[in-house]
Amino acid sequence: MNHRRDKPLRIGLTGGIASGKTTVADMFAELGVPVIDTDVIAREVVQPGQPALEKIRLEFGAEIIDADGMLDRAAMRKIVFADDDARRRLEAILHPRIREATVCQAEGAGGDYQLIVVPLLLESPTRAFVDRVLVVDCSEEVQVARLLMRDAETQEQAQRILAAQAGRADRLAIADDVISNNGDLQETRAQVRSLHHDYRRQAAERVK
Ligand code: ATP
Repeated sequence: MNHRRDKPLRIGLTGGIASGKTTVADMFAELGVPVIDTDVIAREVVQPGQPALEKIRLEFGAEIIDADGMLDRAAMRKIVFADDDARRRLEAILHPRIREATVCQAEGAGGDYQLIVVPLLLESPTRAFVDRVLVVDCSEEVQVARLLMRDAETQEQAQRILAAQAGRADRLAIADDVISNNGDLQETRAQVRSLHHDYRRQAAERVK
């Protein structure tokens, strides 16, 4: 926990795949809240010309760079999926850079409070950087249905993707706040508004 008064209150927003993190983050952004998305940052740090991409090439070989000079994510996923040591080596390259860019963006973003979107907050060093954890939660049935609607090809594939992530109970165990995204968008928006009110109040109390 970080209670320094000169810094904006920082809320870490997390949730399982297709739980509605982007949907919820967009609703906060519409209310004027600065949103820092570590998924976006993770893609930025491996753009061509970035030192992380060169390090990855040296570590894993030229075959993980595609014809356009971009990181071949599918090839990279294949390597780290089968090899824990490779995954750790990749994370050792990526995590410090993602963290540094996250801190840098957050420091420049202002706001009464900020939202930092971290899909795998349980496993992320960014956890220590946030004051509160907000979990976007939905049942596995809803998650599978939304995955199927969006990108999974089969129910089995959707189930496999879910099984590879931290479980719902583990996420809820670290939550300070929860948004239930089982219902329609209106219900979710009402919860976002209510939390927005709470967070602004908490932010104001910190600077008193
Ligand atoms: P990812 O883990 O892949 O980044 P995410 O957690 O950011 O996903 P979203 O992209 O916000 O999740 O939502 C997943 C899908 O479900 C999207 O197609 C979105 O439009 C839809 N969705 C999210 N919330 C709702 C809702 N309350 N009602 C109906 N559809 C929803």
